[in-house]
Amino acid sequence: MSNYVSDFMSEVIAKNPAQPEFHQAVHEVVNSLAAVLEKHPEYCKAKILERIVEPDRVFMFRVPWMDDAGEIHVNRGYRIQMNNAIGPYKGGLRFHPSVTLGILKFLAFEQVFKNSLTTLPMGGGKGGCDFDPKGKSDNEIMRICQSFMGELFRHIGPDTDVPAGDIGVGGREIGFLFGTYRKLRNEFTGVLTGKGLEWGGSLIRPEATGYGAVYFASEMLTTRNQTLEGKTCLVSGSGNVAQYTIEKINQLGGKAVTLSDSNGYVYDPAGIDGKKLAFIMDLKNVRRGRIKEYADKFKGATYTPFAINQDHDPLWTHKADCAFPSATQNEINGKDAKNLVKNGIYVVAEGANMPTTAEGVDVFIDAKILYGPGKAANAGGVATSGLEMSQNSMRLSWTREEVDQRLHQIMKNIHKTCVQAAETYGTPGNYVNGANIGGFLKVARAMMEQGLV
Ligand code: NDP
Repeated sequence: MSNYVSDFMSEVIAKNPAQPEFHQAVHEVVNSLAAVLEKHPEYCKAKILERIVEPDRVFMFRVPWMDDAGEIHVNRGYRIQMNNAIGPYKGGLRFHPSVTLGILKFLAFEQVFKNSLTTLPMGGGKGGCDFDPKGKSDNEIMRICQSFMGELFRHIGPDTDVPAGDIGVGGREIGFLFGTYRKLRNEFTGVLTGKGLEWGGSLIRPEATGYGAVYFASEMLTTRNQTLEGKTCLVSGSGNVAQYTIEKINQLGGKAVTLSDSNGYVYDPAGIDGKKLAFIMDLKNVRRGRIKEYADKFKGATYTPFAINQDHDPLWTHKADCAFPSATQNEINGKDAKNLVKNGIYVVAEGANMPTTAEGVDVFIDAKILYGPGKAANAGGVATSGLEMSQNSMRLSWTREEVDQRLHQIMKNIHKTCVQAAETYGTPGNYVNGANIGGFLKVARAMMEQGLV
């Protein structure tokens, strides 16, 4: 089996050159599947792995737009429709200068397994644009969204592909994207999730990824008869996921002490309480400022800028119990993971997608800490997007409590699936294997039953 896996990986690398994040994501999944493939040789025969790493299709397109000074810019847009064996393609749109085909392919690939874990009928997709939203006016953001949707609208639809937000795409951007789709198609449908509450959005969708990651951490703690009460938590990022992670940590009696953006991080040993969080939400979501301002505002908090080419992230060097990486991919390397374990962290719940490098993952697994990988721990966001789609189809809105309850139950179910799959296939307590196997089996069975297409 190890030959099969290494031959398979060599082929993936040769066929998809210069896409290291995609190789990393595929390698992690395939590594987890050895025991499954031994038990189910029919999946090898049907070339399920070879088929699942090949997107159904990829759209790549020009995104021209004009800035406020009248200058023309040309960015590149993408949508990866990875796999729709169990439902319409579903996955976010990312606007960030680091967006490339390889980054979006890794995200779309992860999304297939994540969506399968939610138990809802959703396939996997991802898209985005290499546009940098930092410092842009609302009008510039509107024009880029209109230009992006001016091509994307041909390829999506409520039963085909339903995008959502991701880094750089929040409520404001979803509004501009939806408005353009509605005009071009002359139809009002649930084609995007993360919509405004008065035009088809779901309560709890903005909170869902962060809340879900904390629910997942709580479930992991339950296996050791513990709760989040009194636990100190490191959180990275300061966007959507980080903000609601902190809100839920506070609600459950924990204490979050860090936050970051791409320039640096703040450490506040007194804890980021509700009042301080309200400041962050205004700073990041309304004034669109930088996290540095937090340390100017609150006594006792310190700001540390990130050094260029630093070999480790100083945010991960503080003593704590839990870590919630909520910024971006590969933000915890091997050295960071060692620092975390050394400083007493024994719960890691990934709000971001693939925030830990392969080396870092090995450190967590070897240390036998409670390590919840992103495709399980951050699935609450897409799960609640699935709930938004259901409400749109039924043309009704559930209450806040109802959506939150469903989200909580889904996170418990995902946790249970991970635990059971890891146990069944001989690696109890390994959530990485549990999530990959649990997510894979449902998609593989669907692909087998639907024939060679
Ligand atoms: P936001 O754009 O709201 O926030 C992203 C945060 O991460 C910002 O603080 C940003 O800082 C920081 N960040 C982005 N890129 C980098 C980088 N290269 N280095 C350091 N910091 C960076 O995005 P979200 O909160 O929505 O997403 C965060 C993560 O969670 C991503 O990995 C995303 O894929 C994942 N995720 C999001 C879901 C959602 O529902 N939104 C669902 C599931 C996963 P700055 O302001 O400087 O850019």
